Amino acid sequence: MGIKICKFGGTSMADGNVILASAKIVESDASRRYVVVSAPGKRFSGDVKVTDLLYQCYESVLDKNTDKFEKIFEKIQARFLSIEKEIGKDLGLQAELDEIKKRILNGESEDYCASRGEYLAGKIMSAVLGVPFVDATEFIRFDEHGLLDEKTYALGSQVLKKYNRAVVPGFYGLSAKGTVKTFSRGGGDISGAVVARALRAELYENWTDVSGFYACDPRVVNAPKWISKLSYQELRELSYMGANVLHSEAIFPVRVAGIPIRICNTFRPEDTGTYILPKVTDISLEQPVTGIAGKKDFTVITIEKSLMNAEIGFTMRLLTVLDRHGISFEHLPSGIDTISLVIDNANLRHGVLDVLVKEIKDAVNPDLLSVHTDIALVATVGHGMAKNIGTSARLFKALGDAGINVQMIDQGSSELNIIVGVNKDDFANCIQAIYNEFFN
Ligand code: ASP
Repeated sequence: MGIKICKFGGTSMADGNVILASAKIVESDASRRYVVVSAPGKRFSGDVKVTDLLYQCYESVLDKNTDKFEKIFEKIQARFLSIEKEIGKDLGLQAELDEIKKRILNGESEDYCASRGEYLAGKIMSAVLGVPFVDATEFIRFDEHGLLDEKTYALGSQVLKKYNRAVVPGFYGLSAKGTVKTFSRGGGDISGAVVARALRAELYENWTDVSGFYACDPRVVNAPKWISKLSYQELRELSYMGANVLHSEAIFPVRVAGIPIRICNTFRPEDTGTYILPKVTDISLEQPVTGIAGKKDFTVITIEKSLMNAEIGFTMRLLTVLDRHGISFEHLPSGIDTISLVIDNANLRHGVLDVLVKEIKDAVNPDLLSVHTDIALVATVGHGMAKNIGTSARLFKALGDAGINVQMIDQGSSELNIIVGVNKDDFANCIQAIYNEFFN
């Protein structure tokens, strides 16, 4: 029998009762042998995730604000102690919390602080299931550039196979310097994928609070269709563009090993969930569109210059400006005499935009340079569009009929997605119009 890796997200670890429900899910299937956990997340809307509280603790130590630190740490402590009470067992959390508090006050790193939610959640799940706790620092390794080190997989297999079953805290590992290092936010999903690949699992189950992927965000479109199967590429496109069910980098470890991912709902374990499958041939291509996702807050810098097409090195000079400031761009749509840079607003804080505009003018001497700051990007994704002629015509007609002005268009050469840039006030209407065209 193959092994299943179960990763439980923050809402599945939010309080003692839901932790017990998560443990029951593990125990209901003997092949669910390795478990990866997130820190306790939100219990209700307006609640604060433990990881966010831990970041605040770090900040308050940095600001030498002891009162603030004490107040925030008290909240963290109260959450863990109430979990212990709900579970009804002495899990030794007080001693762990005392030690963590001491270390944070002694100036431990931001990543160490942030990782303690997962560490304690791992200890709790290990005690509830009665299986060993294996710390992620024992095998998840980052290289000197901060990227996941490939030796993680061999080490992970060696360390984890010593145990028939184990619980591993998600979100962190060990840096090349030997200190705790975290993945980016939501990175527990990556840890789960890493464990799945190290153990050559037959399935990576990601347990969360929704029954998989929907054709678009249910907060934008009322009761959208549920997606039963997605390909890795479709998942990557949708999650990168804002469908935040799974971390957009979680597919990389499992893709290499061809391990399917199943998104399942801890609160409705009987639901099938969504399967994310390695082979495109396993996905139906009948429907041109699989899903729609979008993100707000982009800036588009459009540069126009006559005979740009004949000016050798033009794009290189333009991109050198971004490189100099360590800024990445999302898209680079171009025409004969125009090119646009689409940049996430998060990269343009603290006056960086003005500096970029000035340096771009100096570098390429454009005829015209315009900046649009309130752009939302909406991606329509599906392998089926390559085979269904007329998909883009339908999409643009639907947007035209809805009175939406499309300010930018980008279609990936793989014919897997069509991305449009619209004013952020048109964001919801844009998604609704595309959804109505392809799903209603
Ligand atoms: N607890 C971390 C976060 O809130 C990681 C995770 O939940 O996957 O980002």
